[in-house]
Parts: sequence; structure tokens; C-alpha cells
Amino acid sequence: MIAGGGLAAAKAAETLRDEGFDGEIVLLGAEHERPYERPALSKGYLQGSDSRDSVYVHPEGWYAEHHVDLREGVTVTAIDRHAHIVATADGAQASYDKLLLATGASPRRLDFPGSDREEVLYLRTLSDSDRLRSAFQPGARVVVAGAGWIGLETAAAARTAECAVTVLEPQPGALHDQLGPELGAIFADLHRAHGVEFRFGERAVEFRPGMVITSGGAEIPADVLVVGVGAAPNDELAARAGLDVANGVLTDEALRTSDPDIFAAGDVANSYNPLLGRRVRVEHWANALNGGPAAARSMLGQPVRYDRVPYYYSDQYELGMECAGLPTPGSYDQVLYRGDPATGEFIAFWLASDVVVAGMNVNVWDVQDDIQSLIRSARPIDPTRLTTPEIPLTDL
Ligand code: FAD
Repeated sequence: MIAGGGLAAAKAAETLRDEGFDGEIVLLGAEHERPYERPALSKGYLQGSDSRDSVYVHPEGWYAEHHVDLREGVTVTAIDRHAHIVATADGAQASYDKLLLATGASPRRLDFPGSDREEVLYLRTLSDSDRLRSAFQPGARVVVAGAGWIGLETAAAARTAECAVTVLEPQPGALHDQLGPELGAIFADLHRAHGVEFRFGERAVEFRPGMVITSGGAEIPADVLVVGVGAAPNDELAARAGLDVANGVLTDEALRTSDPDIFAAGDVANSYNPLLGRRVRVEHWANALNGGPAAARSMLGQPVRYDRVPYYYSDQYELGMECAGLPTPGSYDQVLYRGDPATGEFIAFWLASDVVVAGMNVNVWDVQDDIQSLIRSARPIDPTRLTTPEIPLTDL
């Protein structure tokens, strides 16, 4: 039984079949869509360059062909762990031997005067992306709350659609919590060069028709306010069932929860990563792509040690990047560059005591495996050699 119909869920079902499991697989997903991938919703799909068909994890017939009982529009509301039964919102029940929780995350919502107006938009689902796309008409005034990944990718899409864009961010810079001030400044400059206005240290406190009021008292003309202030794990179901939950469903390195018959993967899981030596909840595509299959193997009783280096990517205007590791402020003591950031093609490394803890390749490709090897090695690296492009990363 798989609860949640996103990428982690679909990949878990696929892996169960690939591994030869021939029992019943039931996939219960709350959305009225078969599982799809979300990255394009703030990029190509939002900008109209990627088709709707391209976002689905599997072709329409795949589930039936692989005897996966996909039930769309079905929300799991309760788990009876002793009876091994789940209840669903339509009043039905279904029994399980093993259960995977892959319920993902939901956007954090803002609550202030006018925040419930229809011009205040969020971005998580295909229909959210459709709504944004129709709002992003040339000349429309778009205010974005939050300079995180969703906020910045949305800002890029809105600028590409020739909207006027202002981004509000209470932190002192863009992507501050995700990358720290150094790389955050590079992304902010990229957006400024494309005409985005930032107001750091300010948040939205009110929406009035045609206007967003900020905490600094500014009145910013706005046809829409797009809120991208982070996501919260959909872990209430697990909490109500008495599973250990703290910022997501807690799991061990085999993605097993505090109940040996229940597993968790993707955005909802806060899993012990043996490489990092701590639990992490990773809200990125690759964690759903790899975590779903890892949980599936664990459900089949195979030994699993889920120790991936967290990895993600983003595309904004002409910048494409991949990042390995979680370079949050406080986790590093210096940032070094291989290549000149001013050229738009470089690799940034975050180091703690000369050990690479994270690395981002910007418009430089085929180096992710090498960056991840450096992180995995946890060895001190000579900074001069690290920043000398002529020395292959594999020689460090
Ligand atoms: P989800 O995709 O959230 O799927 C969970 C599903 O479970 C949802 O359909 C939900 O409705 C359903 N569900 C919830 N509760 C229940 C229940 N009780 N019963 C049944 N079903 C339930 N990551 C990157 O690395 N790079 C990117 O560029 C990138 N871009 C993104 C852009 C956008 C707009 C968004 C929203 C995310 C982006 N991400 C990106 C993050 C990535 O999409 C997520 O990490 C990924 O979707 C997580 O997959 P998941 O299967 O864990 O959860």
C-alpha cells in the first residue's frame, strides 16, 4: 500500500515490480491526476515550453500494465496500525501488509488581511501552475513573497512573460537559508539584471485589490501575489497514527518509521542519513526519485542504507545549475570558486575546515559525480588545487 501519489510513490511502485514483487500494489493519491513531477511547474510548464504530457512519471497505461491499482482522488485519512488498515476520505477502508507514506509536502500559507483573496496564489500542483500561467500576462504586476527556489523560479517565469516583478524577502538576501549570502548575492544579481526588484528585510502584511502592503509600510502595485515561503511536510496522518514525527516522519537509514511495517520517503520523510550523521528532510526531486525506490526495497526486506548526498537543480533565465550538499549558513566557513562567477560559468564549493561540504556547478556540466565524491570523501582539500580549473576534480 502506498499513500501519496507523487514521484516517490510512483517510483516505489515501479521498483516493487522491477524487483519481482508480484503481490498486490495499491497506490492511493489525493490528487485527480496520475503521479507527476513538479520541477517543470515553476519552469518549462509555467513558461509554456513543456507540455502537460511531459510532466507525468509514467504513461497513462503503465499502472494497469504493471498491475498497480492506482486510485486517484483518494485521500488516506487514518491508519489503524494494529489492524493494518487505512481509512480513506470516501469512507472506504483497505488493508496492507506494508505501507509506504509518500504524502509529500504542502506550501506554507500566509495569513494576513486579504490573504484569502483569489489574487493570492501558491505553487505546488499542476492547476496552481495553470493559474499562475494565466496571471502572467505581459504588463501584469507580480509581487512574489519569498526569495527561495520557488519564489525565484516564479520570478524568472514572470519576467520571461514580461511582467513587472517585485520580490519581498524578510531575510537579508536571496536564497539566504538555502545557500548563504555569497551565492545568494549571485542569484539576486542575476535577477536584477533581468529587471526584478528585491525588497529584502520586508514581508507582505496585507493584500488589497491592486496592491501589496509590506512590513516596511510600502504599497506595491500588484495584480497578483505569489507566495513561495517554504513547504511543510504532510505528516499529520502519521502523527495521528502515533508514529514518531518531528518536521516530517522520522525514519532510520532504511526509511523505516517507528512502526516496522510502515516506511516513508520523499518530502515527507525526515530520514537518518549515515553519510551526514544526522536526520535530514530533503525537499528535492532527486530525493523522491531515489528515496521511493530505496523504501520499496526496504519494504521487500532487502538491506537498505540510504546515504545519498542531497542533490537538486534549478534553471533561471540563462542560468542552469546543480547543487550537491546542503550549504546552509553555519555549516561552512568559506566559499571558493573554480572559474569566475562573473562569467556565469563556474563551480562554487562550500568548505568547513577545508573539507568540501557542498558544491554547485553553474552552467558547467558533467561534474556532479566528481563533486559528490569530494563531499563523500570528507577529506581536507588544498584550496589552491580546488580553485585551479586545470587540475581535474578527479585528481584532487
Ligand atoms: P509530492 O510530489 O508532494 O507528492 C505527494 C502526493 O501525495 C501529492 O499528490 C499529495 O496530494 C498526495 N497526498 C498527500 N497527502 C495524502 C494523503 N493523506 N492520502 C493520499 N495522498 C496524499 N526539486 C528539485 O530538486 N529541483 C527543482 O527544480 C524543483 N522544482 C520544484 C518546483 C515546484 C513548483 C515544486 C512544488 C517543487 C519543486 N521541487 C524541485 C521539489 C520536488 O518537486 C519535490 O521534492 C517532489 O515533488 C517530492 O515528491 P514526493 O513524491 O515526496 O511528494
